[in-house]
Amino acid sequence: MAKVKITLEGYKCERCGHEWVPRDISQEPKVCPKCKSPYWNTKRRRVTMSVGAS
Ligand SMILES: [Zn+2]
Repeated sequence: MAKVKITLEGYKCERCGHEWVPRDISQEPKVCPKCKSPYWNTKRRRVTMSVGAS
């Protein structure tokens, strides 16, 4: 039996690290199926907060 490596194309959530293969690869998922974050494909950026401004 020959061993083959099957690589599936999928997505990885940058927020929770969840990896999944969507049914329709041509359509980018709107949210992560696990953490439901709409920013699953966005790396966490430094957020400028205006807290403490007096
Ligand atoms: Zn996620």
